[in-house]
Amino acid sequence: MNSIMKVFNINLKTTLKIAVRSLASESKYPNGMSFELNETQKEFQELARKFCREEIIPVAPEHDRTGKFPWEIVKKAHELGLMNTHVPEELGGMGMGVFDGCIVAEELAYGCTGIMTALEASGLGQTPVLVAGNKEQKKKYLGRLIEEPMLAAYCVTEPGAGSDVNGVKTKAVKKGDEYIVNGQKMWITNGGVANWYFLLARTNPDPKAPASKAFTGFIVERESPGLTPGRKELNMGQRASDTRGITFEDVRIPKENVLIAEGAGFKIAMETFDKTRPPVAAGSVGLAQRALDEATKYSLERKTFGFPIAAHQAVAFMLADMAIGVETARLAWQRAAWIVDQGRRNTLQASIAKAYAADIANKCATDAVQIFGGNGFNSEYPVEKLMRDAKIYQIYEGTAQIQRLIISRTIIDTAKQQA
Ligand SMILES: Cc1cc2nc3c(=O)[nH]c(=O)nc-3n(C[C@H](O)[C@H](O)[C@H](O)COP(=O)(O)OP(=O)(O)OC[C@H]3O[C@@H](n4cnc5c(N)ncnc54)[C@H](O)[C@@H]3O)c2cc1C
Repeated sequence: MNSIMKVFNINLKTTLKIAVRSLASESKYPNGMSFELNETQKEFQELARKFCREEIIPVAPEHDRTGKFPWEIVKKAHELGLMNTHVPEELGGMGMGVFDGCIVAEELAYGCTGIMTALEASGLGQTPVLVAGNKEQKKKYLGRLIEEPMLAAYCVTEPGAGSDVNGVKTKAVKKGDEYIVNGQKMWITNGGVANWYFLLARTNPDPKAPASKAFTGFIVERESPGLTPGRKELNMGQRASDTRGITFEDVRIPKENVLIAEGAGFKIAMETFDKTRPPVAAGSVGLAQRALDEATKYSLERKTFGFPIAAHQAVAFMLADMAIGVETARLAWQRAAWIVDQGRRNTLQASIAKAYAADIANKCATDAVQIFGGNGFNSEYPVEKLMRDAKIYQIYEGTAQIQRLIISRTIIDTAKQQA
């Protein structure tokens, strides 16, 4: 038994057993609703919570200050089975659903969303392979991540194309058994630390080709000649996470690394979000819960006018609003994750959860700073980091506006069909 397993009083066999038994669709109440996690999920939640308290919270301020990548945490989380939970059992993974992954995401985010994003973005990079990879691709690229504490990345955004994915200009041209890729990507989480990337590139030179035919998804090795990550970006928050631009100069990708077929890339890139937006929402809830807990604690310690500030109704009601947000945003990610684990389309619910939880995280973090008063504005206290960290949740994996675009289009289209 190694040292981490000893610390957590758990062995790998137990971890795997927990995971294999853990299916979000399992329910004691098969014919009705249940708001209860099953025993296995509770155990896994407890494991992630303990890991967060003991391994993440103590080092989070240092990673925030220095921007140092949290490799030590990645290694420990990997050893404990807190990463790559969705990789199928036949590849050595745990074969867990999106719901169970979200439970872990929420707990880790409570400690530091920068560190959680470093882990989560690897899941984002892997999901296209999970949903569209063939047997060999899955074995080679997902299997590798099970064996070693390595990371993947999702490489879609460019300097001129973020929300408008159709504007992607990075080109892949077929030559014999290879594709030659040229272009520039931007804002790639894990850009400098990933072992391989999911890449979206244009393969159809016709500018009028529809998105559903113009793009192809590839798996690209980090060590490919001509692939150069830029400097680590200095971001407002989530500073432990590694965000970079990546330049592709005559990068050669073997045709075996095409996902599904030429032209299928846009669909793969978009479908990925159905599985990855619920964990992003769960991360937002972890941050919001932390803001609520820190603010509640402080409001009982800090006295003004002879009373703890919690006794002032204006402060107490801010806490109440934060609790309303945390509770309802959690239900939103749970529902979005549960639906996709049933094998049903959850695009609407994933966008609702992502948009709502991101807004709640921002509101809770801002209110926590307010409750801390002057101390809230100072980096010696924990809540200013939460406020800086929260903002990106309204931007990455589809901005707050793009989520509302998806939601409104879906309900309007449904109404038209029913008319
Ligand atoms: C820290 C960080 C990490 C990231 N990680 C990754 C990653 O791992 N992989 C990856 O591929 N990308 C990543 N991104 C990119 C991220 O997904 C994009 O920044 C995001 O999608 C927005 O794109 P943009 O920055 O080009 O903004 P723009 O698309 O230029 O949008 C600017 C503003 O206009 C609004 N807007 C745009 N179009 C519309 C519209 N049609 N209707 C209404 N409003 C609109 C947007 O909501 C936004 O407010 C990351 C970004 C950051 C900052």
